[in-house]
Amino acid sequence: MTNKFSELGLSNELLRAVKDQGYTKATPIQSRAIPLVLDGIDVLAGAQTGTGKTAGFTLPLLQNLQKKGSSGGKRHIRALVLVPTRELAAQVEESIATYGRYLDFKSMVIFGGVNINPQFKKLRAGVDIVVATPGRLMDHMSQGTIKLDRVETLILDEADRMLDMGFIRDIRRIVNAVPTSRQTLLFSATFSHEIRELAKDFMVYPEEIQVAKRNETADKVAQIIHPVDKARKRELLAHLIKEDNWYQALVFTRTKHGANRLSLQLTKSGIPSSAIHGNKSQAARTRALKEFKEGKMQVLVATDIAARGLDIEQLPHVVNYELPNVPEDYVHRIGRTGRAGESGHAVSLVSADETKLLHDIEKLLGHPIKRSVIHGFKPDENIRAKPSVQQKKRARRNAATGGTAPKRRRFKNSGRTR
Ligand code: AMP
Repeated sequence: MTNKFSELGLSNELLRAVKDQGYTKATPIQSRAIPLVLDGIDVLAGAQTGTGKTAGFTLPLLQNLQKKGSSGGKRHIRALVLVPTRELAAQVEESIATYGRYLDFKSMVIFGGVNINPQFKKLRAGVDIVVATPGRLMDHMSQGTIKLDRVETLILDEADRMLDMGFIRDIRRIVNAVPTSRQTLLFSATFSHEIRELAKDFMVYPEEIQVAKRNETADKVAQIIHPVDKARKRELLAHLIKEDNWYQALVFTRTKHGANRLSLQLTKSGIPSSAIHGNKSQAARTRALKEFKEGKMQVLVATDIAARGLDIEQLPHVVNYELPNVPEDYVHRIGRTGRAGESGHAVSLVSADETKLLHDIEKLLGHPIKRSVIHGFKPDENIRAKPSVQQKKRARRNAATGGTAPKRRRFKNSGRTR
């Protein structure tokens, strides 16, 4: 197995686009998936966001389309990528445009929550690649505004999330509308029984590949949750910093405004700190960072976006003052501590209104995070326990049917968003 892009069998146009991105080595999922996809076989891949999976299927997909050439005449849909959310749809389509910049392909996104007319227009004009969420794609299919009968490659991205969102019926209908002679690629973070069933039904002798979970360092970080009332977070943070004599703590807030306010309050309570976020000038950011690194500032408060560009690693403490909206950001945040075998410490102050965000994070990590209530900060309203799979299934069934339907109809109308 090689990690050199030049040895993976990609065309010059694609290698050029990869070079433009500044990638020097292929990631493990790319090294393994690209040659298989180029061979034309079905691939069942276990890979999470952050592994480079998007380029792992986009690059060979583009190459296969390029190699087969177009059949002339008006463009028709040759590749369909199904994704769970509009955000992911936009991201995947952007990758297609980026890696395909030296090739002549047209791609588009199809998702709900926006006017359908511009989508009709684009489809009529002709596209080669469609990236879609299942709900809106079904709308187009039922209105006869999309033709999938010449699709050569079908990709299911984040298939486990699509199943979690109740898209199973839509997916089955969509797959049935695509020729069976297609190549099918299925990407999923987990291989549950349901995913295996899908693979069995939709794929022909798939080659199975798995790559290690992203950011294994996350597992080396000691993670803890302190449940606390929202209104008492600042007090608890100051208490922890003083009590345990933390120095060089990177504290994350969700908003710029929140970062400023918290940093001012901490400084007032005798903990030197500064905030770093997109609204600050580069000079102010550089200064804050320098003072923090030199130990003059005990605490740096940052938003996710500001922290991304920061040249700081191996911090002893990372604090989630507020949980991030996107679970992957949690992994990015705590990846700032405990690098290269160092032991790190990631603390999250979680209030009852953040229960759902916490569950999403634990799902991504694949395990629960330890809770510990700090003496004197017991919350009035605690974070709720995660419902069991059985409870969830029952709730879903009841929501769909009023509790009367047999088990096999459990996906009916279950939480599909359009
Ligand atoms: P993904 O897992 O597809 O969401 O990709 C995660 C991030 O990794 C994206 O920001 C990509 O631009 C980036 N990426 C993908 N492939 C590579 C690579 N070979 N080298 C460095 N970064 C990459």
